[in-house]
Amino acid sequence: MKALWLQRLTCCGNTHSFLNYEGLEYLFSRFEYFYHPSLSLESEEEVVERFLKEDFDLLLVEGAVRRDDVVLKELSKRARFVVAVGSCAVYGNIPALSDPEVCGLNYRFKERDGLLEDPEVINLPGCPAHPYWIAHTIFLLMQGKKPELDQLGRPKDFYSSLTHWGCTRNEYFEWKVDAEELGSERGCLFYHFGCRGPLSYSSCNRILWNGVSSKTRAGTPCFGCTEYDFPRRGLWETRQYAGIPAELPIGVSKRGYIMLSGIAKMFAPERLKNEG
Ligand code: SF4
Repeated sequence: MKALWLQRLTCCGNTHSFLNYEGLEYLFSRFEYFYHPSLSLESEEEVVERFLKEDFDLLLVEGAVRRDDVVLKELSKRARFVVAVGSCAVYGNIPALSDPEVCGLNYRFKERDGLLEDPEVINLPGCPAHPYWIAHTIFLLMQGKKPELDQLGRPKDFYSSLTHWGCTRNEYFEWKVDAEELGSERGCLFYHFGCRGPLSYSSCNRILWNGVSSKTRAGTPCFGCTEYDFPRRGLWETRQYAGIPAELPIGVSKRGYIMLSGIAKMFAPERLKNEG
């Protein structure tokens, strides 16, 4: 199996994330050839030149792309699978905010208006994408299996549940007990500190970072970095109208929220309120 990892408009965060994958040596040993700009000694120009003339298995792209990137267009026709690694390669993200000529591979934010009409790219958003999401997707593709994707081309294995699932603060969320400050061990970060866990799809609280942690476990709100509208203003605050969050958890109506949150706050167990 032959793979080519290319970088475009990027901070290289997804490379750093990928290099944290514990089984990296084993993964590379399964490849006949794997080019990565930070790991390979060959000149990228020569490698690209070669791959433009032969079919290969896997094209991984990190970073947002420009609409006139003919090389990527041509390479994508040669590759059996194309993977966008990280939110910039998926949606365009920060580099696309002020430049209409910058986009993701299939998408520009939520519009299917990216560089490539075809093929359907396997999208691994995240700022950065979790090393396991990247590696597991590569292992699947190695077996010739394409993961089942959602409406934004994201593998359902990693993006079909909310980041909120598996968060250790769920009980505080249910009883509407706020965290008192950022970094605190207790309380939920949704009500004042802008947590996007109930509004974002990712498995950050199921497949932990470094096997032990996640943003919300560390006392930082989820920023919703796997979604097309990341980044937003006010990452650490919850916009509110008359005390009600401007954006409610997915699937919760305003009326339901008002009714339930009032009761929850009133009857929250003392042990949660008095902890610490
Ligand atoms: S901190 Fe965020 S992810 Fe955790 S329970 Fe609260 S809203 Fe959900």
